[in-house]
Amino acid sequence: MTTVISEFEIIRRYFTRPAPSAILGVGDDCALVKARQGMVLAVSTDMLVEGTHFLAGTDPERLGHKTLAVNLSDLAAMGADARWVLLSAALPTVDEAWVDAFARGFHALAERSGVELIGGDTTRGPLCLSVTVLGELPAGLELRRSGAGLGDDIWLSGATGEAALALACLQGHARLSDALLNDCKLRLEAPEPRLELGGRLRGIASSAIDVSDGLVADLGHVAEVSSLRADLLLDALPRAAALRACGDAALAQRCLLAGGDDYELVFTAPVAARSDLEALAIELNLPLTRIGSMQAGAPGVVVRAADGSEVKLSHRGFDHFQP
Ligand code: ADP
Ligand code: MG
Repeated sequence: MTTVISEFEIIRRYFTRPAPSAILGVGDDCALVKARQGMVLAVSTDMLVEGTHFLAGTDPERLGHKTLAVNLSDLAAMGADARWVLLSAALPTVDEAWVDAFARGFHALAERSGVELIGGDTTRGPLCLSVTVLGELPAGLELRRSGAGLGDDIWLSGATGEAALALACLQGHARLSDALLNDCKLRLEAPEPRLELGGRLRGIASSAIDVSDGLVADLGHVAEVSSLRADLLLDALPRAAALRACGDAALAQRCLLAGGDDYELVFTAPVAARSDLEALAIELNLPLTRIGSMQAGAPGVVVRAADGSEVKLSHRGFDHFQP
C-alpha cells in the first residue's frame, strides 16, 4: 500500500533510534562521535542497487539486514568493532509496509551487532541503499590486505558458494531441492557478517579480506598488495551440501571459487597460530579451514589440485564492468 507520508515522518518513524554512545545522533546537520582513548576509527561505505546487487522483489526485511551486513563485513575484515552507521536510501515510492520491514531487518542486525544508526539521507529515486559504517580498533592493530607473510597459512571462515548457487537457481541455471535452495537463499539474502571473528583476529592474523566478489578474486587482492603468490588447495575448500547436491560440478566449482556474495573472511596467519585458530573456531562455533599458503612468486592466486597441478579457471570473480 502506498500512503502519503513525508520524508521527515519516515525518518522519525523508521530511522530514528537512540544512539547512546554517540555525542549526537539523528536530527541535526551532522552526527557527532568520538573514538575512545587509543582507538582509531575504521570507516567504510557500500551501496546496494536494485537489479545490480539484489533482484527486484527481494524480501524487504532480508534486504534491510543485507544492506547493513555487507558493510559490517568490511569492518570485520579490518578487525574493527562496529560502532555507528549512516543509511542513505533512495526509494521509488513510500510503501510503508516495505519501509517497515526493511527497517526491522536493519535494526535487528544493528542491535545484535552493537552498532547505532546516527544519520543518513532519504530521497525519492530508483531503489538504492547506501550505508556508511564506522568502527573502532586499537591503533596499529588493523588487519590490512598487505600484511600477508611468506609461508603464512590461508584460512577461510565458513564456506563459499551457496549465495552464488542460490542466484544461479533463481535465474534458472540450476536446480536444488526446496530445503537446500532455502539454505542457499538465506546465505544470499541474509549473510552473517563475521564481526566477532574479525575482532578476535587482531594480533593473530597477518592480513584479511571479506569475500564479496569471489574467493579467488578477493584473495587475489591480498596476494597483489602483499607481493606473494597465494596457493589455494582445491580439495581443502569446504563444500556446502548444496554444492555437492546441485549435480553440475562445473557450476559448483565456479560458485565455490568465484561466486561472490559470501561475506566470509579469508585471512592469513603464521603457521605458529594454527592451534590458537583451531581453538577460536570451537569457541566461536564457526568453522575455520586452512585452504592454502602464501608463497614466493608472481603475485596472484594459483588453485592447485591434489597432485599439485594448477587448475585452470574460467572465471576468477565478479567485476561490475567486465563481462
Ligand atoms: P539535511 O537536509 O541536512 O540533509 P535531512 O533532512 O536529510 O537533513 O535529515 C535530517 C536528519 O535525519 C539528519 O540527522 C539525517 O542524518 C537524518 N536522516 C535522514 N535520512 C535518514 C535515514 N535514512 N536514516 C537515518 N537517519 C537519517
Ligand atoms: Mg538530507
